[in-house]
Amino acid sequence: MLKFSFFLAFGLLSLFASAQDCPILPTPAVYQPTNGQFVCSGNLLIDPSEITPNLKAAFTDYALWANNIQVSPFVQNPMVQFKKLTNVKQDSYSINIADRITISYSSEASCFYAWVSLLQLSTQQDGQLSFPKCFVKDYPEFQWRGLHLDVSRHFFTVNEVKRFIDLMAYYKFNTLHWHLTDDQGWRIEIKKYPLLTQVGAWRDSTVENHYTTQPRTYNKTRYGGFYTQEEVKDIVNYAGARFINVVPEIEMPGHARAALAAYPQYSCTGQVQGVEGLWGIFDDIFCAKEESILFLQDVLKEVLPLFPSAYIHVGGDEAPKTRWKECPNCQAVIKANGLHDEHELQSYFIGRMDAFLTQNGKKLIGWDEILEGGLSPNATVMSWRGYEGGKAAAAQGHYVVMCPGSHCYFDHYQGRGAEEPLAIGGFTSLEKVLSFDPIPPDMTTADAAYVLGAQGNLWTEYIPNMAQLEYMTYPRTIALSTALWSETKPTYEDFFAKLTTYHFPFLSAKNVNFSKSCLKPEIKTTRALGWGILIEKLPAKGIIAYATVLADIKAAKRKTKTVQIIVDQGPNLPSKEMDVIAHKALGAQIVFQTPPSPKYDNGSLTIVDGQLAARPWKGHEWLGFESDSVSFDLVFEKPIKVKEIRIHTLHDPNSWIWAAQTYMITLNKYGCGNGIADGYSTDEFIQIEVKDKHVKQIHVTLYGISKIPSGEPGAGNTPWLFLDEIEIR
Ligand SMILES: [Zn+2]
Repeated sequence: MLKFSFFLAFGLLSLFASAQDCPILPTPAVYQPTNGQFVCSGNLLIDPSEITPNLKAAFTDYALWANNIQVSPFVQNPMVQFKKLTNVKQDSYSINIADRITISYSSEASCFYAWVSLLQLSTQQDGQLSFPKCFVKDYPEFQWRGLHLDVSRHFFTVNEVKRFIDLMAYYKFNTLHWHLTDDQGWRIEIKKYPLLTQVGAWRDSTVENHYTTQPRTYNKTRYGGFYTQEEVKDIVNYAGARFINVVPEIEMPGHARAALAAYPQYSCTGQVQGVEGLWGIFDDIFCAKEESILFLQDVLKEVLPLFPSAYIHVGGDEAPKTRWKECPNCQAVIKANGLHDEHELQSYFIGRMDAFLTQNGKKLIGWDEILEGGLSPNATVMSWRGYEGGKAAAAQGHYVVMCPGSHCYFDHYQGRGAEEPLAIGGFTSLEKVLSFDPIPPDMTTADAAYVLGAQGNLWTEYIPNMAQLEYMTYPRTIALSTALWSETKPTYEDFFAKLTTYHFPFLSAKNVNFSKSCLKPEIKTTRALGWGILIEKLPAKGIIAYATVLADIKAAKRKTKTVQIIVDQGPNLPSKEMDVIAHKALGAQIVFQTPPSPKYDNGSLTIVDGQLAARPWKGHEWLGFESDSVSFDLVFEKPIKVKEIRIHTLHDPNSWIWAAQTYMITLNKYGCGNGIADGYSTDEFIQIEVKDKHVKQIHVTLYGISKIPSGEPGAGNTPWLFLDEIEIR
């Protein structure tokens, strides 16, 4: 292996925001600084009679927690005055800081938002508390600004959930979607059915490493926990005091293995099975018979009084119909109600819950699968498989919460480095989250009115503890709050400057284990003459440096297979080593007959950049095709000699990704003459031995399976075909 050093010279570029910049995130609608500071001696005096008791408690506790600011009552000459606004946008507020501080607000929540903004404006030095003199006017763009927390796959204690809530409140989130039940654990006490927590809250083992790792190994430690109803009330009140509504999720009819471990009689087969220790989708779901529906309504009867939330989430996602198709009870329900198939049966099942919740003064919300078989009349749809479910629901006049996996799944990777902790897959960078718009560009204004807002989802298969939860949540969540709150979006550079200047110190002070991945330079390859440029890019204002290593690679190609390039990442960061496979197709032009899916289109250079993608896979390292065959041409600058072609593909049935089964390769010499190469295929790569001297163009067609076989995750759907490096030797 040859080694090349690749050092880049950086100009001195300030990463810091200027003094005139507004430190508040999410960015307020108006920030007008004036001259000078409002300074006091570390104790903020307010007249408690001017605000409601709710607000008084919230202000005092929260100021102390967030910024270590003491708040004291002082009626004669308070420093902060409060004024009620009328006839303004929902939840709008303003702050005027001059010789005193005036907060004008339209609702209790907006008064709290003003308070949080005031805290974000504060600085403390030598016992003095100061605020920049300024005027702030602000209101949220979207009304549903949420975070989802899965406590089933991994359990978080009452105090950990409270800390999660405290941090959310600092960024003006108002909804906590609490995913309380799933296959791997039932986490809420139900008095009528004590086995739900005695049995359903505990699993005997948990899969280790990534669930695609073979062979699978299990940690045999008993794992679990649950919240008593008193603890649930405590958390709901705690969130309420910070103006956060808690939406509970009780999953049905799928993701039910923990409940069915406790009460197998509500499944289709009645078979006794343990609480699941593996991640994924399981065939055993709630039976659609009357007894199961009444059981779940009984559960909801105990859940509803614990949550003031208007919305109750019933899941509805990823429910295989395997058991329902074979179950005489389910088939009898289909027949008795004149339903056509199992999708309509799911619609019937959700419809029964919708009617029940409506009778009890609540609103049903569910994942976008509840659209299949017909949407229940009062249902709100949470769109996670892209925007499509949300668009379809809005077109039918239903409310929508957007959380497409592309932008809102914070269990995805956020950095490209090998040092990132193990995650489920995918790639959702800070910059991508900031660019998120809950309203897709092709939605009509009328339909857009049904979009309540959006949320970030923290699924915890790969998030075993609080430190990891904070790593995956921050700072991406701050970008999401900005995308949802701020009508005028800051540029990434402005956001980044504020984030690093004002909010990283806050997160550090609160001992939040936030990710610093966004500080690392992003290293990209791009095409150059014959082969590549390496681009080193810092995600801050105006820093883009690049250099070519073309000559080095070309020289190396003849003698060696891999070239190691060492990239200087700048001050305080270790230099980064990159291994580049020095093969003959580096930087070749790719002409697709089958275009990659926009979801996994990372540019055609991905397959000729000399970089092998990581396994378990990360979203940005592959080209993904939503098709059972893929065709493309590799076109070379000048004819090359070819001995071997190696095509790297991915086989990950758990993610619906299946390797190519057969292929056809055609070599074009100067555009004439064809040949079909013979070869050999594995799950990892296809290797073809050839002997040809003047190859100008190679045509490749890969054939996958057309439908995922039964018994596999996503059975019946077209699988994905994923492609990485095409090595030519
Ligand atoms: Zn059944």
